[in-house]
Amino acid sequence: MADHSETHVKMPNIKFTKLFINGEFVDSISGKTFETIDPRTGEVLARVAEGGKEDVDLAVKAARNAFDHGPWPRMSGAQRGRIMMKFADLVDQNVEELAALDAVDAGKLYHWGTMVDIPDSSATLRYYAGAADKIHGATLKMSREFQAYTLREPIGVVGHITPWNFPSNMFFTKVAPALAAGCTMIVKPAEQTPLSALYYAHLAKLACIPDGVINVVTGFGPTAGAAISSHMDVDKISFTGSTEVGRKIMQAAAVSNLKVVSLELGGKSPLIILDDADVDKAADLAISAGEICVAGSRVFVQEGIYDKLVKKLAEKAKDWVVGDPFDPRARYGPQVDKRQYDKILSHIESGKSEGATLLTGGKPCGNKGYYIEPTIFTEVKDHMRIAREEIFGPVMSLMKFKTTEEAIQRANSTIYGLAAGIVTKDLDTANTVSRSIRAGIIWINCYFAFDGDCPYGGYKMSGFGRDLGMEALEKYLVTKSVATPIYNSPW
Ligand code: ADP
Repeated sequence: MADHSETHVKMPNIKFTKLFINGEFVDSISGKTFETIDPRTGEVLARVAEGGKEDVDLAVKAARNAFDHGPWPRMSGAQRGRIMMKFADLVDQNVEELAALDAVDAGKLYHWGTMVDIPDSSATLRYYAGAADKIHGATLKMSREFQAYTLREPIGVVGHITPWNFPSNMFFTKVAPALAAGCTMIVKPAEQTPLSALYYAHLAKLACIPDGVINVVTGFGPTAGAAISSHMDVDKISFTGSTEVGRKIMQAAAVSNLKVVSLELGGKSPLIILDDADVDKAADLAISAGEICVAGSRVFVQEGIYDKLVKKLAEKAKDWVVGDPFDPRARYGPQVDKRQYDKILSHIESGKSEGATLLTGGKPCGNKGYYIEPTIFTEVKDHMRIAREEIFGPVMSLMKFKTTEEAIQRANSTIYGLAAGIVTKDLDTANTVSRSIRAGIIWINCYFAFDGDCPYGGYKMSGFGRDLGMEALEKYLVTKSVATPIYNSPW
């Protein structure tokens, strides 16, 4: 655990803690607030307005009005794109404040936030800003007496419900394509990490995004989240979170107004390391996969390289620094909250009791906050809990395999299909494995390579619909065909 005394903590100024509805920061109708906790200490960071059903109703009304009567869906794509570019510039101008907010609210590493999370967020905005004026339909010849054209129209009022793992990236992954399409929206950030979304609402206003286009309702899932997913006047839900909640959202959509749903859910992503891999590089990849949450939490290692890789990981583990997210030496920050911290520790205990071998870590660290040592288990078997359930924490499970076919079969034997990685020098094997794994993104000799133009989402119970890329823009558009008779057509 890094010593915090040398850390120059840049505490952010927490200015925005109210709901953002129709361009104004307002208290919740009930006047209720909830605590957001600083995971570095376990202490209260701020009290944030607790939105409920009535607040969601107001936010939906504002979004509906902005959609039905406001300028946003009516302006040209080029105009929307220009405003989105301005929004992106404002995000960049506030990068330090935003990275600091995610550090104290979510425990995200500050230097990672300034270098990756926040710049990637503004890049996503710019990607979709550039797409806003490239939305167009087709001309259809039909039969002799008719012709038709298609219009690509914004789907309407969108509800975005997001998790805590990437508060900034999630916000823009959802909001940016919906803005480009001309939709209006209500965002409900995770209750653990509401602060940066409120700051983004403030920046949206400074960028001159019209009132009612982006509304942010902070609050809890079963109240605010459920009110959005069951609302009769919300046209689409875009959700990222657990499979369990995804199911509830689909049910709520089905029994309300059959709103369109897209879900990006849990994963238990495999990373397959083949005998011919470079041990040092493979260890680095496995570690980087473990650091983030789409984590290659099931690492399948071929038997010829297994012992060498275990040794290398044990050596590298000595340099891992768990510490305050503001400490530039820290590679691992705290877990987001007590619940997540307890859940990870219980998974670690199950790994120990089910007979996996603990290579490194395996316990909490520090004398306050929610810090856990990065943990590696070896000799993990497919039936163990740590090999089956999503952990969302720094826990890596190493599993031995003999043949590529066996690795593919075991990698696929999960209810999830979010991501997968392969480490090998053999192009043919890499191609075979890529085509054989049922997952939404495959990384060959890399892990967690993302960009605005690269679609991302699940197979199987990891959900459906894609975030990012031009495919995500499609989620926020509907097609209307317009047919008209053509008389005396020469052809
Ligand atoms: P995690 O397990 O990663 O915290 P969840 O699926 O519980 O993920 O939460 C993701 C998001 O879904 C959060 O914003 C949370 O408030 C919201 N949520 C939780 N329960 C519901 C629900 N019943 N209806 C709608 N949203 C919900």
